[in-house]
Amino acid sequence: MLVSGAGVAGAALAYWLQRYGFEVTVVERAPSLRGGGQAVDVRGSALDVVEKMGLLEAVRERKTALLGMSQVDADGHEVHRTTERTFSGGAVDGPDIEILRDELCALLVSAAEPGIEYLFGDSITTLVQDEDGVRVRFESGTERSFDLVVGADGLHSVTRRLVFGPEADYLHPVGTYIAGWSAPNHLGLDRWEIFHQPGDDSEVWGSMIMTVRDNTELRVFTGFQTDEPLADMLPRDVDAQKRLVAERAAHLGWEMPRFLKSLWESDVFHYDVVAQIKMDQWSRGRVTLLGDAGYCCSPLTGQGTSVALTAAYVLAGELHEADGDHRAAFAAYEDRLRDHVADNQALLVLGQALAAAAGDPESAPGGGIGEEGPVNTEMFRAATAFDLPDY
Ligand SMILES: Cc1cc2nc3c(=O)[nH]c(=O)nc-3n(C[C@H](O)[C@H](O)[C@H](O)COP(=O)(O)OP(=O)(O)OC[C@H]3O[C@@H](n4cnc5c(N)ncnc54)[C@H](O)[C@@H]3O)c2cc1C
Repeated sequence: MLVSGAGVAGAALAYWLQRYGFEVTVVERAPSLRGGGQAVDVRGSALDVVEKMGLLEAVRERKTALLGMSQVDADGHEVHRTTERTFSGGAVDGPDIEILRDELCALLVSAAEPGIEYLFGDSITTLVQDEDGVRVRFESGTERSFDLVVGADGLHSVTRRLVFGPEADYLHPVGTYIAGWSAPNHLGLDRWEIFHQPGDDSEVWGSMIMTVRDNTELRVFTGFQTDEPLADMLPRDVDAQKRLVAERAAHLGWEMPRFLKSLWESDVFHYDVVAQIKMDQWSRGRVTLLGDAGYCCSPLTGQGTSVALTAAYVLAGELHEADGDHRAAFAAYEDRLRDHVADNQALLVLGQALAAAAGDPESAPGGGIGEEGPVNTEMFRAATAFDLPDY
């Protein structure tokens, strides 16, 4: 079986498929496991999935373990401080785990036994399926056949494009772009997050700065509100993306000029459109989609990683139950997960309200949604609950 993408979804799926005795090859476009990205959240049923993988303690040990957050205005004056929750991770003493994406991926990969074949620095270029299997051609020029192909290759999935058609048919931008990068902890912060509000700025709605890796570095995370197709103009051109971020944020006060200098030294830069993927079907023949590739919830829901972990567990479990009969397994996979995905995609309204409130210098994070922030709403709790089947 071929899995395209060694992100959270692909690595978790490979683990579960191997555990059920399937032979697995994973192709990843990056030359090695991708570094970078910001903190992602593991919560609800995803905590049960990592526990079943024997990883709960290891994941917990690497949690960002922030002690709280403050909010500063355009000039850096503190307007709010709390040790009860953070902007990115919710309640400080809650069960949810906030962890760097690359550290989570590395743990998921390390949990598997030797024997999963990883093809780094390659990508599917063509995919032809018939009754017996899928003939795959890779960028490297090699051609191989697989019984099934799973596209776990993220928001801009090549598997989706090849099998289901152009990205534009499924990608729904929410009008925001997010850039994230690393910077030295020159502020001397101790396990802390700062939310910087630029005030009445029309495009940048805010920047979130958090300590990571035992306070040795900061991750800076800036959101732009715009209807321009900025990502489309700059496909995979990191320098152009950095230039764009530097230009759009050039006027910001407080410590932002210093952070923007670090942008050029950071090798963990990540920039993308914030969008959701909506599809009537996730599977076609012997090919199915998993995680962001099939149903990206968007970072504004905070749920992409948890949904991907839960879905990887279900997809592998259904293939196991159906003894490899992909028709039965793919149908059961969609059936079990459709409502859960819809509930999580609907959380976008909470994230958008939070972003809108963040543009208002008078409001504390969570303003407009309730003092406690979106992750403590009933809607959020209902969406994250999912009864994992036993396979
Ligand atoms: C570098 C990076 C940084 C991120 N940062 C954040 C963040 O700060 N906050 C947040 O909420 N979410 C972030 N995300 C998204 C988040 O990781 C996902 O929403 C979530 O974890 C679901 O994971 P996924 O495996 O479905 O997709 P992803 O995590 O996007 O993983 C997809 C994988 O597929 C690989 N890939 C892409 N194209 C191909 C191809 N053609 N062939 C082979 N492999 C391919 C990618 O390199 C990646 O490893 C980031 C994703 C990436 C790739």
